[in-house]
Amino acid sequence: QKFVYDFTEGNKDLKDLLGGKGANLAEMTNLGLPVPPGFTITTEACKVYLDSGDAPKELRDEVSAHLDALEAKMGKKLGQADNPLLVSVRSGAKFSMPGMMDTVLNIGLSDASVTGLAQQVGGDERFAWDSYRRLIQMFGKTVLGVDGELFEDALEEAKTAKKVKVDTDLEAADLKKLVKKFKKIVSDEAGRDFPQDPREQMDLAINAVFDSWNTDRAKLYRRQERIPGDLGTAVNVCSMVFGNLGPDSGTGVAFTRDPASGHQGVYGDYLQNAQGEDVVAGIRNTVPLADLESIDKASYDQLMQIMETLETHYKDLCDIEFTIERGQLWMLQTRVGKRTAGAAFRIATQLVDQGLIDEAEALQRVNGAQLAQLMFPRFDDSAKTRLLGRGIAASPGAAVGKAVFDSYTAVKWSRSGEKVILIRRETNPDDLDGMIAAEGILTSRGGKTSHAAVVARGMGKTCVCGAEEIEVDTKRRRLTVGDTVVEEGDVVSIDGSSGKVYLGEVPVVPSPVVEYFEGRMHAGADDADELVEAVHRIMAYADRRRRLRVRANADNAEDALRARRFGAQGIGLCRTEHMFLGERREMVEKLILADTDNEREEALKGLLPLQKQDFIELFEAMDGLPVTVRLLDPPLHEFLPDITELSVRVALAESRKDANENDLRLLQAVHRLHEQNPMLGLRGVRLGLVIPGLFTMQVRAIAEAAAERREAKGDPRAEIMIPLVGTVQELEIVREEAEAVIAEVQAATGTDLKLALGTMIELPRAAITAGQIAEAAEFFSFGTNDLTQTVWGFSRDDVEASFFTAYLEKGIFGVSPFETIDKDGVGSLVRSAVEAGRKTRPDLKLGVCGEHGGDPESVHFFHEVGLDYVSCSPFRIPVARLEAGRAAA
Ligand code: PEP
Ligand code: MG
Repeated sequence: QKFVYDFTEGNKDLKDLLGGKGANLAEMTNLGLPVPPGFTITTEACKVYLDSGDAPKELRDEVSAHLDALEAKMGKKLGQADNPLLVSVRSGAKFSMPGMMDTVLNIGLSDASVTGLAQQVGGDERFAWDSYRRLIQMFGKTVLGVDGELFEDALEEAKTAKKVKVDTDLEAADLKKLVKKFKKIVSDEAGRDFPQDPREQMDLAINAVFDSWNTDRAKLYRRQERIPGDLGTAVNVCSMVFGNLGPDSGTGVAFTRDPASGHQGVYGDYLQNAQGEDVVAGIRNTVPLADLESIDKASYDQLMQIMETLETHYKDLCDIEFTIERGQLWMLQTRVGKRTAGAAFRIATQLVDQGLIDEAEALQRVNGAQLAQLMFPRFDDSAKTRLLGRGIAASPGAAVGKAVFDSYTAVKWSRSGEKVILIRRETNPDDLDGMIAAEGILTSRGGKTSHAAVVARGMGKTCVCGAEEIEVDTKRRRLTVGDTVVEEGDVVSIDGSSGKVYLGEVPVVPSPVVEYFEGRMHAGADDADELVEAVHRIMAYADRRRRLRVRANADNAEDALRARRFGAQGIGLCRTEHMFLGERREMVEKLILADTDNEREEALKGLLPLQKQDFIELFEAMDGLPVTVRLLDPPLHEFLPDITELSVRVALAESRKDANENDLRLLQAVHRLHEQNPMLGLRGVRLGLVIPGLFTMQVRAIAEAAAERREAKGDPRAEIMIPLVGTVQELEIVREEAEAVIAEVQAATGTDLKLALGTMIELPRAAITAGQIAEAAEFFSFGTNDLTQTVWGFSRDDVEASFFTAYLEKGIFGVSPFETIDKDGVGSLVRSAVEAGRKTRPDLKLGVCGEHGGDPESVHFFHEVGLDYVSCSPFRIPVARLEAGRAAA
């Protein structure tokens, strides 16, 4: 096994092994772009290190061999006193984790080689000592675990002593003193001296990068982003180039397109006379990349050329980190860049138009989570607002909340239900908790590539950064703009699409994408924006390709009509219990309390016309498309008063001696129906079997409604679905009764109603005996909510609030199985039930109507196991359509 790859040996497809950064450095090297030579230590080496606590024993020799080759290529040796080779040691995992892991620059500098470095750069002592102090600082902090503040404080002291404001005003002699102080800090704090042996520096730095895979903040980030915890990081050892060698040097970041809008152009930030970390950390304010043209035209032209090469090569938006060392341009990193949801859609269609990708590939460039994000509301333009300031639109959305100025308060307040906006001068990885807790993030410094911007975009969180007029005072917990002061707790609104920051709460309006789906904005119309055009096209690509149909979970005509506008191809689940709420609850109460057949029939007779009218409206709204109506499912106590409340009421009444007859009867019934575990009690098909006339009333209502729609020249396509079936016998009994009622209605109305009868598969026994159940069912609809509940033994209404956080933290699962289908457990039952069901009945129709029907990852699974449709809530229909298309592309 090979643990080290030279940049000339890898390529962009080796991300698993070389990490994203390493693979792309190799790719650029092979494209002939100016990449400083170096090599990559594989993620495999990291895994060995993390598993065993030690680097693989072959690693040292392999590194030596690659270092020899690098030294030969560069004509200098690592840390050599008179002509040192310096390297950077950087992390680089398969998935980018911005700022989460460690980097050490200037490895190879020591008391001996610092003067050699000065000579290399033409006698610039100041530069050499500054580089050395940066090394000790970074190495001390990240490798030896010294508190970074100690170095910062010492640096501040040096500046105060000298009465200067910026680092660059410190001279060689000052920096030399500072190096001495830094070395003392290391000795005092780390219990060892700063290592003077360059190879020891390098080896320790490599191990530190391995270790940084498992810092708390890295783990938290991975959980957020659903990045597996066992991938490990690669380590890139790269010869140093310097952006801080004077005004003809500098460093920058660039995008081949605007990551917020997708537009082509010159996007990025440049910082003269600085090292790369200065830009990414957002510590100093940068100039727009376009200004580089006047600063260094040759480098600018070369960079533009390279950007074009990269975009054509990767066929996608790339982001780039580069450094200019005395007029020589060097590429330090590229990758396919993160982008906002809107930009993802626009870029995908633009690349199709440019002929770089095809429609199927375009579908892979977007996803359902992004589409969902685009369906969020945004600020009302016409509202009266008080503009506080304006920053860079770093991550879109409209966020309103109380101002907080530190991560701790953000977390604390959001836990108690407050919406907060986290406001910082700039953010760093320590702010991650607060960023997760906040509705949005506002910073006063840093550009589109600052930590706040990159992380917020990754999380899909609203962010405005670099709002420079705003003075953030974290110590006093307030911000000021001119005379205006915003204290902690005051409400602010931030618009991540325009970069505007408002005082107070700004009302929000629906997104144009929703307006489009609702049919209130049309693609191709004058007022349709580019985003709507792009979404329209991508949805068409998806619809053309998908094999899964998409239906809605809807119980009334209004939802059904919306679902239809959103592209639903029918209703996959009408939960009839939702029709028994409000004033009708009393009628159900009568049914439950009925002591005699007469009373019961009376109650059912009262419900029948109401049910029928509901169905007529529903069938009309979904005319021509299937509507699956599920017969009553929930345990009956849900229709009765709460047991404790009623007990108290009756007890009080009894003590006053005016207890009323009905309350007493009711209380008896409530006691009779009270169950320890109602989700496993008298519900679903069991209700139909023990309450005479209940299911047949519902079937009659469906059949008569269908007949009436036929009469009105409609095209009703009702399907009757029986819930919570565990054995085919249950289904057979209900089926026989239902068929009798349907036959009666058909005879009476003289119509052939063609009503399909099927069942939900939501109990393990049903899934296991699906082959038998299919004998009596024309369709299956997987109720993955109950199936997850019963397969795992997780009470669906309780566990998420109770112990799921602990489970997620322990990595037992990365996401709740109620959100994304558990493929190995629940999913495997679905898969085998599909096979068994189809074996019995080849034309069995198969769908899913649990919450998973609208979850992107689960949709791919249902496509793969061969369901005919997914059914989900109306607002998730576009997401399901898109994901079904992506699954098939
Ligand atoms: C299910 O169990 O997945 C389902 C769709 O039914 P309900 O959520 O109504 O129990
Ligand atoms: Mg269910």
